[in-house]
Amino acid sequence: MQRPAESPAAPKLPHETLNREPSTAGPSPAVPLQSSSTHTEQLPDIAAMTISDSPRWKYLNRILSRKGPFADEDYDTEMQKTFLDDFKVFGAGGLGCEILKNLALSGFKDIHVIDMDTIDISNLNRQFLFRASDVGQPKATVAASFVMNRVKGVTITPYYGAIQDKGQDYYMQFKLVICGLDSVEARRWINATLVDMVDNNNPESLKPLIDGGTEGFKGQSRVILPTLTSCYECSLDMLAPRAAVPICTLATIPRQPAHCVEWASMLEWPRVFEDKKLDNDDPEHVQWVYEQALKRAQEFNISGVTYSLTQGVIKNIIPAIASTNSIIAGSCCNEALKIATGANPYLNNYMMYIGNEGIYTHTFEHEKKPDCPVCGNLATDYTVDPEWTLEEFIDRLGEKPEVQIKKPTLVTERRKLYYQGPPQLNEQTRPNLEKKMKDLVDHGEEIAITDPGLPFSLRLNVIFS
Ligand SMILES: [Zn+2]
Repeated sequence: MQRPAESPAAPKLPHETLNREPSTAGPSPAVPLQSSSTHTEQLPDIAAMTISDSPRWKYLNRILSRKGPFADEDYDTEMQKTFLDDFKVFGAGGLGCEILKNLALSGFKDIHVIDMDTIDISNLNRQFLFRASDVGQPKATVAASFVMNRVKGVTITPYYGAIQDKGQDYYMQFKLVICGLDSVEARRWINATLVDMVDNNNPESLKPLIDGGTEGFKGQSRVILPTLTSCYECSLDMLAPRAAVPICTLATIPRQPAHCVEWASMLEWPRVFEDKKLDNDDPEHVQWVYEQALKRAQEFNISGVTYSLTQGVIKNIIPAIASTNSIIAGSCCNEALKIATGANPYLNNYMMYIGNEGIYTHTFEHEKKPDCPVCGNLATDYTVDPEWTLEEFIDRLGEKPEVQIKKPTLVTERRKLYYQGPPQLNEQTRPNLEKKMKDLVDHGEEIAITDPGLPFSLRLNVIFS
């Protein structure tokens, strides 16, 4: 491998002076031409420029215009310069500001973004594209116009809504999907949708999914090639069990401090204040929930209920730290650039970043699960105590991190176990909730579970313990 010497005295490489006309009429105020290495950061109007022209793209250009030792075999330095122009990317989620900014500054020209949130005042400390005057506006729209205004030549098409509003036809137009979603449900949905879109006769139907996520000082980025590599669903069992638990657990025997808070906010509040909605941002409301939760915790000998836990649980807060978001979004967008251009090999396939206990990163290949309900083709074995009632079975399903369902409908091949709706079927199957599992299903029998949060049906093989 040969490297050009990098020293201040090194002569300029041809590509650095490419497309720069000699300055005959004095320096243009809009586009300062650089003839020496004293590079000052200025923001020229680059609307009409190609990627090779502007000083802004100097470093990107350096990557794209030299074929590195790890580049794809058919890497074409001339082609790469315009390649990103037509590479349509889709982005969504809580890492939105970082991702949009990075994609635009990486040379992507056609970006679509979906976000269902409006700007809240509490976002302003880290979501740097938003200003106080933007509070209440849709995030997608404001972020798109901010970045387009700042990085000329990029087109960002915003959509204010949920990713689930769009169908496969919509997602088919993109070459790459990059998500920094903060909800497990939304990620499961986009993952399952992209896996389902793969048509083996049409290579274009396989859309690489780059998934980034953070929680406090921890984060991960991963590259998912739907149907080829392990998918998001394959790794759901790596998640910590979620805080939300079925109502019946809350109402009967809480086991964790969060259960007490949920009991107070979801059951006690509506009981005591029939007509008043709990306002998560009202400190008096939060205080009331906290006091009730604390009482209940003491009753059941549970420690750990605090005001900030109460706030965290009712607002469903996942702690967000700006610098972690920045690291993870940076990693995701680097992967996007590598996938789009072939300039370097991309991540295979999971990078975790741990910054809460010292600092540690690790990359590994997460394997496909043969019984993954989305990309595998086997039903998952699930150990069941034959003495459980169907209701207990559903409760426990909801607690499993790899299942995560809220309002499931359950059927076997020979009977309807439980239907959430319509009312007639719900009424008809409700008595089953009290029945024991051994009286409803056989050992080895398959239960199919559907849930409004899932774009697929989950298949479980009942294994009696
Ligand atoms: Zn999978």
